[in-house]
This record gives sequence, C-alpha cells and structure tokens, in this order.
Amino acid sequence: MNRRYLTTPIYYATGDPHLGHAYTTVLADTLARYYRQTGAEVRFLTGTDEHGQKMQEAAAKRDMTPIELADQMAESFEAAWKDLNISFDRFLRTSEPEHIGVVSTVLERLWAKGQIYDDVYSGWYCVQEERYWTEREVGAEHLCPDCKRPVEFVEEKNYFFRMSDYQERLIQHIEDHPGWIVPGTRRNEILGFLKQPLQDLSISRPKSRLAWGVTLPFDPDHVCYVWVDALINYVTASGLLDPDSGPDQPGFTDQGNSWWPASLHIMGKDIITTHAVYWPTLLMAADLPLPKQILAHGWWIMEDEKMAKSVGNVVDPLALREDYGTDGVRWYLLRDMPTGSDASYTPERFHARYDELANVLGNLASRAISMIVKYRDGIIPEAAGDGLEADIASTLSAVTGHMDALRVHDAMATSMDLARTANGYVDRREPWSQAKDPSGAEDLDETLASLARVLAVLTALFLPVTPQKMTDLAGRLGLKSVPTLDQARSISLGGLRVEKGAPLFPRVDR
Ligand SMILES: [Zn+2]
Repeated sequence: MNRRYLTTPIYYATGDPHLGHAYTTVLADTLARYYRQTGAEVRFLTGTDEHGQKMQEAAAKRDMTPIELADQMAESFEAAWKDLNISFDRFLRTSEPEHIGVVSTVLERLWAKGQIYDDVYSGWYCVQEERYWTEREVGAEHLCPDCKRPVEFVEEKNYFFRMSDYQERLIQHIEDHPGWIVPGTRRNEILGFLKQPLQDLSISRPKSRLAWGVTLPFDPDHVCYVWVDALINYVTASGLLDPDSGPDQPGFTDQGNSWWPASLHIMGKDIITTHAVYWPTLLMAADLPLPKQILAHGWWIMEDEKMAKSVGNVVDPLALREDYGTDGVRWYLLRDMPTGSDASYTPERFHARYDELANVLGNLASRAISMIVKYRDGIIPEAAGDGLEADIASTLSAVTGHMDALRVHDAMATSMDLARTANGYVDRREPWSQAKDPSGAEDLDETLASLARVLAVLTALFLPVTPQKMTDLAGRLGLKSVPTLDQARSISLGGLRVEKGAPLFPRVDR
C-alpha cells in the first residue's frame, strides 16, 4: 500500500494564526488531498508548539498560566484550519502526555548512547529566540543578531548534543540525495551553512530560568530546549515510539506499523536550518531513519500597507474569504505563488486569479450543464464522447508529474489549461448549431458526453485546491463523490442526471 506521511511545523502558540501559517497549512493540505486522489493512504499532521520561554512570558503578560494560553491558542488554530477546510488527521499539542513521553524516550536513548554531555555555558542569551549567541555575534552593543533586542549574559550548566559529530554524514546525505531538500536554492543554502564547522547543540534550559518544558529524564533541574522538543513531535505522531519505554526497551527501533519516516516535512524557509540540520542529526544519533523529503516554501510579500489602506484595499488575503469563499482564497495562494519561491500579494493579482476560476472553470461548468439540461432533458448522453481524450490523457500525466515534483502552481496552471481547451471545444463544435441540425443528434451527444467527462476529470484535478467547489460540481454531474485520478482516466457519465445550480464561483462587486 502506498503510504504518505506529511507534516506542517507545529505552530508556536503565542499568537493567533496568520497568513504565513495559513499558506504552509493549505499547501500541505493540497498535497495531502492530492496523495489521497492517487489512492495513497495518508497521515497529515499539524499542531501547536506550546513550551518554552516565549510561551511562559506571553502567558504571564495576559495573566494566564502557560497551559491556559496553550489551550486557547490550540483552539484558535484548530478553528482556523476548519475554516480553511484543512483535512488534517492529527492535531498534536506538545503539552500532551504522549508527546512528553516520547521526548523523554528519545533523550534517554541519546543520553545512554553518550550523544549528550553536560558542560558550563557562559555567554550571551536572547530570551526572544531562546538561543545562545557568541561574543562576536552580539557585537559591542550586545544586541541579538536576529531580533535586535538586548541579550543577557548567562553562566549556567547546560546539556549539549554532539551535533558536530554528524556534520560529514549530513553533508554526504544531502549530496547523495539531490531531491532531499526542495527547492534547490534552499539545498544550496544548507550546504553553504555546513561549510562552517557545526557546533554542538545546547538542548537544555535551567528550570531556574524556565520551568515550562519537558524535564530532562537525567536531570530534574533542566527542561528540554523547545526546538528539540518540537521537532520530536513528528516522531510522536508517527506512532514509532512507545512513550512509556526506556532507552533499552525493544520497540524503539522497531518500525512496526508506524508512519515513520515522514514522506515530507513542509515549512517556511525561515525554519529550514532546524529541519535540515538539527533534526536529521538528532535522528542519526538516535539511529532512526531520516525523513524522505523536506520542502521549504517562500514568503508572501505584502504591498505597501499604507498605500493599500489609503485606496481602501484589503491587505490580508485571508480576509477575502468573506467575499470570495475559502476555495477562492486557497486557489489564489496556490496558483499565484510558485511553490518554493516568494510572491507578492496585490488585490489586482488576487482578482485576476479569481476571474480565471470564474470565467474559465466556472463558465465551462455552467454552459456544459445548461446545454445538457436544454438539449437532453438533463440526462448525460451515452456516447463515445472521445473528443477531448488526448487532452485529458496528457493533462493527467502532466499534472501528476508537477505534483510529484512539488510544483503545485504548475499543476494548477495545467489543470486550468484543460478547462480552457474544453471551452475552445464548445466554441468549435457549436452544440447550438448541432441541436438545430436534424441529422446532428449523434454529434451533439458526443459533444455533451465529452464535456461531462472533462468536467468529471476537472473535479478530480482541482479537488486538492478547491475541495468544496469540486465536491459541489461532482454532485451536479450526478456523481456521488469526486473521482480519484485513476477513476477519472476512464470514467463515463452516460445516463447520469445533471443539476443546474448557482454559479460555482459567483461574480463579486468590487
Ligand atoms: Zn533575539
């Protein structure tokens, strides 16, 4: 059985979900739905990252305990994902006992294998990033290089993971597997980063400073560094490790029926280093297989906010859901951003993409269904209907190729081209003339059967991005559900009754 295990990062639960989180999650959802369309068994993981100093401080600021804030934020993220029609199978919270148990299991294992040692750390610490910086990095001003806030001087006992021991093995892995990090620009960035000697990684924080975290199994006065805790969530949700087992228990390296290794970790480019350096070296040290692939996507660049407000435009595309629907926004996000690159949001581009959806796909559905109602009393004719077969076959193979190469924007462009071709077919065949010609009945049957068939194929192709609308369209074609890609290859709709409805993608006054 073809199985796929996909993950988003677990989002830091100090603030409400925003466009960056939404894009990552919609991208992951689209791929999850695509894999299901290919017949794969899919596990799709998302969740919230709830430990660490920022959580502790954000909660204190609101007069809440960390777990109260975490509860509220987990609810807010889950609600946001339901609004965006995200089909996750597992929402993991790092405060769950199962996850805490698995983090302990992994740390015990690393400790027993001598992969962790303690040492005194003295140097500079940024509270915001929860990370240490060197004297050189903070400069004479003693400011954090990342967030520019003042850093604190600390001298404290710390546990370190022997990350430096795995530098060569990691470089080798990246070089041996050219498609492991996508896109290639990010792969080169990581290889560039690995040209410098890799330091060992501090994996603990003293409880005197930070109590809100997973206690180290070998030292009750320290908690696990929040990034190490968070990355392990991917293993927790796979079911690979028994949260109650110690370092020597069998089952630790037994794959059993678990979902590990992940097929694909999806994240923004800002957190590629933790996923492509910290995470694989931790897995190597724990003798666990590495994820099969890592996709780091780009950022949405907003046009100048002041300008947008002064002309009355909406700045955040998520707010456009109200007028254009969830599927309209999902389509824009995936169609307009080349997967892996940055893209600029402007209202003009949003409208252009929405118009494509309404005028090409929506229009095709509406005219084809209207003609079947008008000329054949709503029953799709039993006819060969092979007028678009070559286009359907080449589109299915091109789209599969693009999706498997993680180029969602190209897959969507190619799918939309099939709808364009089908509109051209209507114009060429002129069913309205065929209907007037007493000897044209067979030709008309063929035209209408071809159009019904291409619409069924389009529901299968667009389902991953616009799931609600495609489910709706499949229903109007008389289908019980959207066909899988395999079913779409040979589906015939002869004899089914179509149903007219309101426009799939209605015009919106601007
Ligand atoms: Zn900082």
